[in-house]
Amino acid sequence: MSFQCRYGCGTWCHVDPDIKTASGKLIPIQENGIPHDCHLRPQYRHKTTTAKAVSKLATKRIDDYQLIQETKEYVERVNVRLSQYKLNIVVNKKEQSLLEEML
Ligand SMILES: [Zn+2]
Repeated sequence: MSFQCRYGCGTWCHVDPDIKTASGKLIPIQENGIPHDCHLRPQYRHKTTTAKAVSKLATKRIDDYQLIQETKEYVERVNVRLSQYKLNIVVNKKEQSLLEEML
């Protein structure tokens, strides 16, 4: 069920019971699948909310963009801890082969 952002910015959001913050609160999700981090919210600090998938199924419903961002942040944290090593993440969109398109 969609609802308008309670801070009055006019954005339509929905919640997914399986997608919550690390502390367990439901996250308003915009129509494009990205968590709504309202600029009208009093505590707004230019920091995007990171959704955590509570169940494995819910991972599929979190936007690809967020999963990539989460993974990049994770890799950055690991790199800080492993000063002797450097992990790299490469994200390439899969190209469909002609054969796959025909199937
Ligand atoms: Zn808003």
